[in-house]
Amino acid sequence: MGTMGTNTEGTTTVEHQERMFPPPHESQIKAERDLVALGIAVCAICLFVATGGTVLPDVIRSFDTGTQAPSHLLATALFLNIALIIFSWRRYRQLREEIAIRMQAERDARRLSATDPLTGCLNRRAMAEHSERQRHEANANGEALAYVLIDVDNFKQINDMHGHTVGDAVLLEFARRVQEVLPGGVNLARIGGDEFGFTYPYDPATPERVEDLVLRIYEKLSRPIETETNSMELAISIGMATDYEKDRFNPLVNSAADLMQFADIAMYHAKKQGKNRFFWFEPSMESELRFRNELETGIRRGLTEGEFVPYYEQQIDIETGEIVGFEMLARWRSPQFGLVSPEIFIPIAEEMGVISDLSDQLMDRAFIDANEWSDDITLSINISPVQLRDPWFAQKLLKRLVQAQFPPHRLDIEITESCLHENIGLVRSMITSLRNQGVRVSLDDFGTGYSSLEQLRTLPFDRLKIDRSFISELASPMGNSRIVDAIVSIGRGLDMPITAEGIEDEEILAALQRMGDLKGQGYLYGRPEPADEVRERLGEKGLLGELSEGEPALTQTPKAGIEGDAEPEPGDTGQVRSRAS
Ligand code: C2E
Ligand code: MG
Ligand code: MG
Repeated sequence: MGTMGTNTEGTTTVEHQERMFPPPHESQIKAERDLVALGIAVCAICLFVATGGTVLPDVIRSFDTGTQAPSHLLATALFLNIALIIFSWRRYRQLREEIAIRMQAERDARRLSATDPLTGCLNRRAMAEHSERQRHEANANGEALAYVLIDVDNFKQINDMHGHTVGDAVLLEFARRVQEVLPGGVNLARIGGDEFGFTYPYDPATPERVEDLVLRIYEKLSRPIETETNSMELAISIGMATDYEKDRFNPLVNSAADLMQFADIAMYHAKKQGKNRFFWFEPSMESELRFRNELETGIRRGLTEGEFVPYYEQQIDIETGEIVGFEMLARWRSPQFGLVSPEIFIPIAEEMGVISDLSDQLMDRAFIDANEWSDDITLSINISPVQLRDPWFAQKLLKRLVQAQFPPHRLDIEITESCLHENIGLVRSMITSLRNQGVRVSLDDFGTGYSSLEQLRTLPFDRLKIDRSFISELASPMGNSRIVDAIVSIGRGLDMPITAEGIEDEEILAALQRMGDLKGQGYLYGRPEPADEVRERLGEKGLLGELSEGEPALTQTPKAGIEGDAEPEPGDTGQVRSRAS
């Protein structure tokens, strides 16, 4: 793709480039004219005209008649004069050509250093200068300037699943489509991998023009992007910031860099709100981001300090009421934030790219804890979709099991339906490898995602877990839920045992007991609890393993010395929630 063609306002490529990449320095222009070489040529010509008129006819005559030349000295000077004219003229021409080539090369170098090689858009550095220049120009004209940042949602996934060549093709086509929408004089810049931006001067009385433009970008991208092998729907998140607010220029914006930072915060907010949407910057977003940064720093420190600990929730055979297993649920004992729910820190750890480290730490701990329990008590572990993108996930997990000497048949891996949405081929082979080694795989939160009956039929799950949002419908006296009935029938039809989550009271339990052979878990049986409490509970029931029977706990779950270690309410984020709001 060329840098920029003729755009909608009819500015030509040459004009546009002149604006973006200003002409060479004055000294080069002077050099191009090379007055010295030109001056010598002109002087030599004048001398030739002055003296040549008398001397030349005499010289020619002496050649013709063979008589003596007028003066040896004069004739020599004449020939030297002619040589000088030829030499200095040629030198003048040569210099002009050389300098023209050099100027073009420098212009090319300047253009290359200012553009992104893949898309031909401005690069981040050039955008910084360009946007600052535009801000001054716009303000001088009484116009406001909007900074619009666009980020392709889940672009990493496109790269991971289809390779970088396809990823590049997608970015190229993306940039082309956005440029088609932008008015003349508005330059698209590639700020980072999948992040693009532009500045847009507008009349402060009509800020809706910016939103119109953004909506046209969404519209332009609504058509799937076709590459040689794939057709892909692209979603984008957009953050916008302006230097004009409430009838005046915003005093908080002192540079285009400030604007860009605000747009970035708004874009980040758009991502948090579920992606594929746009937001104008608002000051409250900034404190949100600061808090998020504190959480990230806390998570990093928590990982090195061992602040993440497994809690365990009982899983019960609802007919006999016996404990058949435990689900490991992560908790963060943060000295700063208290006991933090996984609903807060797991998504952040996923985005930070530390979810595998976190999960490994918890799993190793859980294998040690569960090795103390009776042999027929299972351990369920939740696995994030991000972890399943690793093609070696199953192999690595099996290696950990061997190292921990934990029997694979006691392990149950829980994956959510969103995993199936991402890469079904990889998930299928992962499930197969795990099952071949005796590990069981359950489909968690069933009914809340997008798994199809076809996937259920062909993927070899060992168990379905009905999400607690459906189970809660059973809470009324003689409670019934058609969805729960339907899921139980599907499970039976596909020969998949079922676990009901979120059994909170006797009514729900009674309704489930009427449905027959099910496993269940929920607050009716108990809240998730730390390893030492589980050990005590099992000890009382005589359900500890032979080796740990009567012995003190081999390993106590480390406490990070914090106050308020009470189990958070569902969806409660403790101090974290109050800080975030
Ligand atoms: P999940 O796997 O569906 O876990 C069940 C959640 O329901 C747990 O929340 C549990 O405390 C809560 N719960 C259990 N019984 C009841 C009940 O009777 N009523 C209500 N209202 N809630 C109940 P928790 O511990 O906050 O975990 C939330 C989610 O975080 C989990 O949902 C799971 O998806 C995820 N998670 C937890 N630990 C990990 C982990 O180690 N790795 C990964 N990737 N995800 C985890
Ligand atoms: Mg689960
Ligand atoms: Mg669940």
